[in-house]
Amino acid sequence: MRTVGSTDLQQPSAGMADTAESQKVVIVGGGLVGSLAACMFSQRGYRVDLFEYRNDPRLSAVSQGRSINLAMSRRARAALGLVGLEGELLRHGIAMKARMIHDLEGGTREIPYDARTNQCIYSVGRKFLNDVLLSAAEKRSNVRLLFGHKMTGGSLDEGRVEFERTEGGTGGPKAKVKAVEAVGDLVVGCDGAFSSLRRLFMKKPMFNFSQTYIEHGYMELRIPPTADGEFAMPPNFLHIWPRGEFMMIALPNQDRSWTVTLFMPFAQFEAITTEAELLAFFGQHFADAVPLLGEDALVGDFFRSKPQPLVSVKCRPYHAGRALLLGDAAHAMVPFYGQGMNAGFEDVRLLSGLLDGLGGSPAGLADVLRRFSEHRNADAEAICDLAMYNYVEMRDLVNRPSFLLRKALDNA
Ligand code: FAD
Repeated sequence: MRTVGSTDLQQPSAGMADTAESQKVVIVGGGLVGSLAACMFSQRGYRVDLFEYRNDPRLSAVSQGRSINLAMSRRARAALGLVGLEGELLRHGIAMKARMIHDLEGGTREIPYDARTNQCIYSVGRKFLNDVLLSAAEKRSNVRLLFGHKMTGGSLDEGRVEFERTEGGTGGPKAKVKAVEAVGDLVVGCDGAFSSLRRLFMKKPMFNFSQTYIEHGYMELRIPPTADGEFAMPPNFLHIWPRGEFMMIALPNQDRSWTVTLFMPFAQFEAITTEAELLAFFGQHFADAVPLLGEDALVGDFFRSKPQPLVSVKCRPYHAGRALLLGDAAHAMVPFYGQGMNAGFEDVRLLSGLLDGLGGSPAGLADVLRRFSEHRNADAEAICDLAMYNYVEMRDLVNRPSFLLRKALDNA
């Protein structure tokens, strides 16, 4: 039986501290947004304790969590620039200058992202990005990274957060769960779409929350490099196979493989129950991709995996007591606009802008949180709505004559 051990109380900074150096920020969640927020706060002089549920992802070869790679846009680049990491991520990223649309017959055509000024988006590995951000945070003397800590409760008004820390291997016979408490002048919830910190917000009056699951799920497949180690498709594109009710996309990886994501209604995933049905389905809808995926690998990957759900979350305000929500915890969105991480990184940049000139007073900090909520909410919800709209565009409208005409006029 697991036992709850003694409480390891982490002292808050002086409750009414008046300089950034004497103030402590507790960050819940060490994913993409939490690790960037740790870099930003520490750069500004705050003492930062970052608590992450997972074990240190840098010690694992496999990417944990959601999509293996992501499209990084100007929003994310600007935020990474703030903490001096934009160059490193751009060197790692693979430029995607256009969408490459694959039709049913295997023909392709390009739709540039920005034919006028030649801007592009970049495919970056989630693990690489998270590892770089965690290491950058860890290099700073005022940051502590605490892995294996799962947030379980706390008080927003007191800036107090409770965690369970599992020692001796999760679920093993020697596993012990120890209670840990942290108190901060500010608690920042970067714990994703199913945020535990947000659950405390739910008890506050005037906090609005909604979540919507779409009827489509996603599954990741893989196109390996060719026998001579090259990309199997032209690399500087985001490849799309739009098929009306469903679609497949592919983003390039550093190792010259592709991460292929199939978005489809759950009912359709469930309807495919045998190898023959799967190959017939792919032969009909994605024939040009089959030799690249490889039939055996496709069958293996498809039946080994479970389609994952996609959720859109809206809430308001983003602050309560001494706490603030950022990233997916504040505004998770369906991934069809490729903006979830980008918007979460933008949160960090905007917050940093509001902290400029604050002077470190606690009253000022409360004002910054209020202004962040006011300033950010409408834009974040607009991106959530655009992401939902883009699902229809990507899987269907890109094939419609009116869309093609509009694109041609835009690019003329
Ligand atoms: P997360 O990445 O979810 O990180 C949350 C962290 O909190 C995790 O490490 C988790 O372990 C930790 N945590 C959770 N609960 C607790 C707890 N109780 N205690 C302690 N720690 C906890 N965005 C883009 O910008 N471009 C894209 O191309 C793109 N593609 C996507 C493709 C797919 C299929 C999906 C699903 C999403 C995609 N996104 C994309 C969105 C992007 O993944 C998210 O917006 C981004 O990961 C949000 O980062 P985050 O740090 O807020 O949350």
